[in-house]
Amino acid sequence: MGPDRGAARGRYATSVPRFYVTTPIYYVNDVPHIGHAYTMVIADALARWHRLQGDDVFFLTGTDEHGDKIARAAEAHGVSPQEWVDATSRRFVEAWEGLDISNDDFIRTTEPRHHIAVQQFLQKIHDNGFTELGVYSGLYCVSCEDYKKESELIDGNCPIHGTPVELLEEENYFFKLSAFEGRLLEWYEANPDAVRPSSKRNEALGIIRGGLEDISITRTSTRWGVEVPWDSAHVFYVWYDALVNYLTAIGYADDPARFDSWWPAVHHILGKDIIRFHCVWWPAMCMAAGIDPPAHLLVHGWLLVSGEKMSKSRANQIAPSDLTDDFGVDAVRYFLLRDTPFGTDGDFSYEGITARYNADLANNLGNLLARVATVVGSKCDGMGPGADPDSRLAAVSATVVADAIAAWGEGQPHLALEATWRLIRETNAELETAEPWKAEPGPAVSAVLGSALEALRIVALLVSPAMPDTSAEIWRRLGLDGRPEDRRLPQDATWGGYPGGRAVEKAAPLFPRRSE
Ligand SMILES: [Zn+2]
Repeated sequence: MGPDRGAARGRYATSVPRFYVTTPIYYVNDVPHIGHAYTMVIADALARWHRLQGDDVFFLTGTDEHGDKIARAAEAHGVSPQEWVDATSRRFVEAWEGLDISNDDFIRTTEPRHHIAVQQFLQKIHDNGFTELGVYSGLYCVSCEDYKKESELIDGNCPIHGTPVELLEEENYFFKLSAFEGRLLEWYEANPDAVRPSSKRNEALGIIRGGLEDISITRTSTRWGVEVPWDSAHVFYVWYDALVNYLTAIGYADDPARFDSWWPAVHHILGKDIIRFHCVWWPAMCMAAGIDPPAHLLVHGWLLVSGEKMSKSRANQIAPSDLTDDFGVDAVRYFLLRDTPFGTDGDFSYEGITARYNADLANNLGNLLARVATVVGSKCDGMGPGADPDSRLAAVSATVVADAIAAWGEGQPHLALEATWRLIRETNAELETAEPWKAEPGPAVSAVLGSALEALRIVALLVSPAMPDTSAEIWRRLGLDGRPEDRRLPQDATWGGYPGGRAVEKAAPLFPRRSE
């Protein structure tokens, strides 16, 4: 998942690597929960990491606002669909502000810019001969906004919602997905790393090899959607219009040079439940419209709650704000990034986050900062000494920085943070061995403390994508100028950057220990 070089042209031509990262756009009838937060924090940390490397970053998220179910929800609440989506979309904007998400754009599918892009994109597919009018009849779940196969039903009900399905028959336009079986297989063959991890790639390949049927892409049963440009009796099916958001926001319809500078070198972050849409439909739609498929599809697992998938019906959805009010924003971000290897299912529990909070944040990081500041206060009159070039920690730090950079670059935040904590632990161990709090002030004590301060400076840089506020606070307490996110890696993480002669602030613990 390195940044993508080249491809840019015209006024966007640049030698700076570019990193375009997206999340799925969230369905506004949903209420933001920590499953969404999990996706957001991964995308945000990757965006911040690439900014720290000096890359040109564009980070996109947004909300999915069309479909019959939304029109029905608005009606049930006695408001217009537009009023309804304005209010419900806002909940996501606020949730992401509360998690310190640094998206560059927030797209809403009801915006005119999106309607224009969808119509242009799908007109291309139509002009290229990949649509066809047909009659669709099927068993439809209103909650899924999707047809179900008879074999999927459980006691005649939707397997996801447990509610009855309706027999629906309507004249639809179909996308000739079946025409893309061969091309998709060739694309997967030629791009072995396009879908990661490989377990998810295999899942997508399994869907394609199982045979692809044409898919119905328009509806006449609702008006709440993007009007089909060649037949105004139809609107596009919500899933079909939503995917196009990834193109809308980078100028597909109105700024070809900008579009070419970001596409197809995108990194789509998505959950494993939407593999079919993103890893099968979407590349085929791009091919049909005559553009390249997305270069990187990064599929994460589910965040379970005490072993179960979150759902409205199980009432086990946790709002991000409940957790951040309790643990703090950065602790929640840290947990989400550190606890689960990318691609596997994670598990959230209060016991789990509390244990990690106490072990990693209170005992390791927080304690290191507090004890160094205390001893600098008592042995050096509060003025931090410079780093010792001969410290054993210099070599540890060099390895840690290299490992963290590699892990972030591969989209493995948990490994990057694990590496970073090695430096924290080694620095604590160094202090335990030297016991500067027992020694007389002098060059030996200064060397130990200066090296601990330098290790903390490097840690502040390495954790800044995961914990931006914590990083800035460590930076400030060490007496450093500016903000860590304005530094550049790897050069600013070279051992010896702590200048010394700075007032080190003794303050309240960053992460007060919690009772388990
Ligand atoms: Zn359903």
